[in-house]
Amino acid sequence: MSFASLGLSEKVLSAVEAAGYNEPTAIQAGAIPPILERKDVLGIAQTGTGKTASFTLPMISLLEKGRARARMPRTLILEPTRELAAQVEENFKRYGVNHKLNVALLIGGVSFADQDRILERGADVLIATPGRLLDHVERGKLLMQGVEILVIDEADRMLDMGFIPDIERISKLIPFTRQTMLFSATMPKEIQGLADQFLHNPTRVEVAKASSTADTVTQRLVPAGFEDYEKRAVLRDQIKACDGLSNAIVFCNRKRDVATLFRSLIRHEFSVGALHGDMDQRSRMTMLDNFKKGNIEILIASDVAARGLDIPSVSHVFNYDLPINPEDYVHRIGRTGRAGREGTAISIVTGDDEKFLKAIEETIGKSIDWDGEPVDFEAAAEDKKARKKARGRGRDRDRSERAERSEKRGKERRSTKEKREAEASNSTEYDLADAAVPGAAQPEVQGFATPQNHAPAPRRGRRTRDNAPAEADLFKNAAHIPAFLLREARPRA
Ligand code: AMP
Repeated sequence: MSFASLGLSEKVLSAVEAAGYNEPTAIQAGAIPPILERKDVLGIAQTGTGKTASFTLPMISLLEKGRARARMPRTLILEPTRELAAQVEENFKRYGVNHKLNVALLIGGVSFADQDRILERGADVLIATPGRLLDHVERGKLLMQGVEILVIDEADRMLDMGFIPDIERISKLIPFTRQTMLFSATMPKEIQGLADQFLHNPTRVEVAKASSTADTVTQRLVPAGFEDYEKRAVLRDQIKACDGLSNAIVFCNRKRDVATLFRSLIRHEFSVGALHGDMDQRSRMTMLDNFKKGNIEILIASDVAARGLDIPSVSHVFNYDLPINPEDYVHRIGRTGRAGREGTAISIVTGDDEKFLKAIEETIGKSIDWDGEPVDFEAAAEDKKARKKARGRGRDRDRSERAERSEKRGKERRSTKEKREAEASNSTEYDLADAAVPGAAQPEVQGFATPQNHAPAPRRGRRTRDNAPAEADLFKNAAHIPAFLLREARPRA
């Protein structure tokens, strides 16, 4: 099948040619014709199948007729993450090179004022995350009555992130006569419910079984010990041993591990960057850009970042942790083997991962091959129990040793204090009277302590009643204080 047979406009076809695509992918072949006929579409397709172009190409064709009015966008695309929204914007730039489209991106982390200016000019396409869009609506800067096409992308991710109530609010602001497209990689019953609510008699286009992985991805499991340092060593060995690794994404379950792994790989002189949900928009974009340009070879990422990455040629995906949610496995490894290319996904498995692995294999409908000896989960559980017990014993021993040490220190402190008190009672060394006597030894330089009168510096820390200097100590370096201040006060008659 050719792109020309799908009914796209000449200008769009020439942009597709410039992008270097020879034929439409399955989701494009299935979704483009009904979208051009103004029908609602339910697209079930995993990332990497060319899903974004399946709605951006026909939208650009349809937008050739008509003009945008100030603050009244003509089309709206809802995305769960900023990265995804930014990538859809990039798609519009790439496929809209022959058009003068005004594309507005409303995502968090960018100033409202800049976004207002773009909306004021009239947006043909508005790409937004739900929260930021509602903020603009509430500020009265955005009117939704002109929206003719609504796209809800990555609907299952929206569900995971709790955006469904926001989407319901937004769809109520848009005219009922609109055309709606809903895309999702998986189709749990909640998403089916949404589709029933938002779509009118949709054309259903399903390009792969929900939750399946592409055949072009070679998947492997590698065993590792429980400890983080053991997992890191396995990861390093795997990266080094990989044939044809041009770039890779390493997925971690927790932000904390992204940071630790990043520092560790830097120490081991790998070319790495990190990407997680807590980074500000600018740093995320810069990081992603550097990865896309090949300035960084390995990108360590958390799942929030997983759905949004559109990097056509990732050769390897590593799961440093097996994902807790099996759907995330599908999304993670969907970063490689995209649009028919070959890819490799390697997952590190520890003795703790039995139930996660089982859930993943059930979801993808096949078992994954091991590279090396498979983890013996039963033995690993026993081993862990034994280690925990040993650690508990170690902790008890440490505790009693600590108590002994502390008691010894206390005794030593008590005896030093007694000694000091005995010495102090015999001493007249720093007496207020000495400091005040005219003609007593003066420092050589006014205001600075000389070696003879320089007492040891007090230790830093909070001043307490016990460590406050005695009155005599306060005045012992006080040769520069005028004598009248040191005169004895005479009681009033
Ligand atoms: P997506 O599923 O939208 O994230 O797209 C995955 C990748 O496939 C993107 O990098 C697109 O540039 C690329 N792509 C989209 N359509 C085609 C096509 N018809 N032929 C080859 N590559 C494509």
